[in-house]
Amino acid sequence: MNLLALYGLCIIGLVTAWLLGRRVRAWWKARKRKALYRKPFPEQWQHILQQHFALYRYLPENLRQALHARINYFIASKKFVARGSMLIDDKVRVNIAGQACLLVLAEEGEIYPGFRTIMVYPDTFYSDTNQQDGAVVSHQRRHRAGESWHRGPVILSWGDVLRGGANEDDGFNVVMHEFAHKLDEQNMAVNGQPLLREHSHYGEWVRILNSEYAAFLRRVERRKNKVMDAYGAESPPEFFAVATESFFEKSIAMRDRLPDLYAQLQRFYQLDPASWQDTTEKSHSE
Ligand SMILES: [Zn+2]
Repeated sequence: MNLLALYGLCIIGLVTAWLLGRRVRAWWKARKRKALYRKPFPEQWQHILQQHFALYRYLPENLRQALHARINYFIASKKFVARGSMLIDDKVRVNIAGQACLLVLAEEGEIYPGFRTIMVYPDTFYSDTNQQDGAVVSHQRRHRAGESWHRGPVILSWGDVLRGGANEDDGFNVVMHEFAHKLDEQNMAVNGQPLLREHSHYGEWVRILNSEYAAFLRRVERRKNKVMDAYGAESPPEFFAVATESFFEKSIAMRDRLPDLYAQLQRFYQLDPASWQDTTEKSHSE
């Protein structure tokens, strides 16, 4: 055997080993995920959700079970890091995991791949940003409730996590907002265009999201925006994140006033939050 053939065999061997390694790792991860999905959900964690996550009380039983399964996996696979005087305990982990996992209840495979760390500050935190305008770079310090770094950590203010979870109908939820950015980045670019379930869904999504965004910008300019916070006018990614907050927290208003946008998000998330509240209101009045 000449040197070239030996070299070729080595390359084939290495590629095969690498592919095999990847498959074994994926199989092992899926096995671990399924085991955690089946693991009993601690009663204490249910109390935490009942107490601090208002939307949890509206969830139909089958979705509660799906949420429990994903929280088990989320907590086992993500790393929570305390910043400042913050202390990380089950209350912190379960609240953040619960609100984040509401967005991925229909996801059967890996949830929130591509990053591992969630940093938690006790309350709003300062963030430094540099903005370039021509040759001028300006430095800004801003108060933030949350941040999502591209392919990097999610950073959250615990005070805002609690406030966002406690109020189910104000359309403000920092956890859902930052994790909507995480869904958005799964196609590599953060552009308000997440990975959709079917290739055939893209045409309609782009057409409707573009026209809804343009109409939203006009409403914000005239100060007539009611269902979604004006911050969504910053850019298409912020529009998607703010629309996600309203989809879950102002679901009936969005379904009634912005039905096309609601229908797109309903197909993307495979959920119909407006029906949870309808059912709860009905059962309360009966
Ligand atoms: Zn944002």
